[in-house]
Amino acid sequence: MQVLYKSTRGKGESVTASMAILKGLSQDGGLFVPERIPELGVPLEELAKMDYRETAYQVMSRFLTDFTEEELRTCISGAYDEKFDTEKIAPLTEASGAYFLELFHGATIAFKDMALSILPHLMTAAARKNQVKNEIVILTATSGDTGKAALAGFADVPGTRIIVFYPKHGVSPIQEKQMVTQKGKNTFVVGINGNFDDAQSAVKRMFNDKALEEELDRAGFQFSSANSINIGRLVPQIVYYVYAYGTLLREGKIQAGEEINVVVPTGNFGNILAAFYGKQMGLPIHRLICASNENKVLFDFFRTGTYDRKREFILTSSPSMDILISSNLERLIYRIAGENAEKCAQLMNSLSQGGEYTIEEEMKEQLKDFYGNFCSEGETREAISAVYYGSNYVIDPHTAVAAGVYQKYLRETGDQRPTVIASTASPYKFTRSVMSALSDRYEGLDDFALADALCALSGVKIPRAVEEIRTAPVLHDTVVDPEDMPKTVKRFLGIEA
Ligand SMILES: *Cc1c(COP(=O)(O)O)cnc(C)c1O
Repeated sequence: MQVLYKSTRGKGESVTASMAILKGLSQDGGLFVPERIPELGVPLEELAKMDYRETAYQVMSRFLTDFTEEELRTCISGAYDEKFDTEKIAPLTEASGAYFLELFHGATIAFKDMALSILPHLMTAAARKNQVKNEIVILTATSGDTGKAALAGFADVPGTRIIVFYPKHGVSPIQEKQMVTQKGKNTFVVGINGNFDDAQSAVKRMFNDKALEEELDRAGFQFSSANSINIGRLVPQIVYYVYAYGTLLREGKIQAGEEINVVVPTGNFGNILAAFYGKQMGLPIHRLICASNENKVLFDFFRTGTYDRKREFILTSSPSMDILISSNLERLIYRIAGENAEKCAQLMNSLSQGGEYTIEEEMKEQLKDFYGNFCSEGETREAISAVYYGSNYVIDPHTAVAAGVYQKYLRETGDQRPTVIASTASPYKFTRSVMSALSDRYEGLDDFALADALCALSGVKIPRAVEEIRTAPVLHDTVVDPEDMPKTVKRFLGIEA
């Protein structure tokens, strides 16, 4: 049965999956959501026998119903190949009484690779399917990891260009180096004088700017989004939760039908929303545990029902979660508002006008599947140290926020269900924070010396992504104010002087 996509805010018509992927964001500023969540439709026992690609086909074909089997399988095999350093693609490692689902084995050693390695394939297939003549311009705001993963995914893909904006002083040195050394004739990387939310808001304004859209169209371009609001990002992220369940079955850690918990270090709410969709498809997930860092808007929201972004923006050691506006939460709000687009639009409007909204009691009751908590910077360091000294396993600060929150959940609930922790970045991406959490001994070492020290300590080989940037030249050095982003885009596309 066909699954169509409609906006969380509008009365606009429904579109096919391929159109939703091409558009990224709906015309009315809302996010595309499936009209219904399809059933997984695979006996759970069968999951144990499937490799990553087969699982991906089973999950994605339920959602992307206007793609043929051949198209989807081609996209999947083009994405989940030797770019990943393990055939398992997303392996599970048992440590500290939980299962760490390692989502960092792709080109940029962070979980964004899971979706961004397949998005360009889905997008070019979707463009062919819809007879798109324009060149597709990917416009992305990044808090660090999305940018590089999108650049790696789209670099030199024919018919596409990619422009990435990042907060000049809000990403780690390695994250910045990874981006500004990006090769590819169709890539453009720009630092902005502002934080991630400034970048994201300006990108959203460009997407909603009709005059700009017409100007681009005349020049043979159209925008699309690789941000986690694109349904083509969200759907591939459901796959690894289903795959993790299959792995637990295969390894005899659970029985078919047994419930598990999932802990997700959260920023834009895309990763945890994918787990929620997995549960809606029929995957036996008990609690969705939403872990925040000191930017704990979501923790406060789950406790009080009020989402309030009017607060200080805190730079933490888990920069990919330094976010005050979690865009993908809108899809959950829409759902718990009984799929009432008007209600959803109202709440989102009060967020952008007044900086906050409060949901009704009725809506709040539907959040029972979720548990929210957060870790301070100190607690994050303690979690890194506890997992290493307890299990000889090194985790990055984002994953540590999740591990720390899981300990709080255990203390509060005593819930002994098997638990999967989404491990969203390799510790090699955040060596300074990781090593300083383990000992004072490493102070004063440069980033590459730290990588060598981490290798000696963990016995885990230094990933290719880190080796490469040791010597790579800087190819992008543009820095602009947020107001000047549209001008910068046009200049790069050669539209205007
Ligand atoms: C993007 C990111 C997150 C947050 O994921 P969301 O889907 O935005 O909630 C967490 N950890 C890392 C390392 C990331 O790159």
